[in-house]
Amino acid sequence: MTTIICAECGKAPFGVQPSGLFRCDRCGSEITARDLVFDEGEVWVIDSAGTLGYLPAPN
Ligand SMILES: [Zn+2]
Repeated sequence: MTTIICAECGKAPFGVQPSGLFRCDRCGSEITARDLVFDEGEVWVIDSAGTLGYLPAPN
């Protein structure tokens, strides 16, 4: 998994919230899964710690 870093502060990853939103650990910026833009075949994932990331397209 490649961790997605907040575009607002450029410092911290996003953690999943009970609301289903993703919140930056540092600046508090919130995004939704719909805000994520990926290349073809890439998918977003959440690791066991609740951190947002993505998986590259399968070969
Ligand atoms: Zn941030």
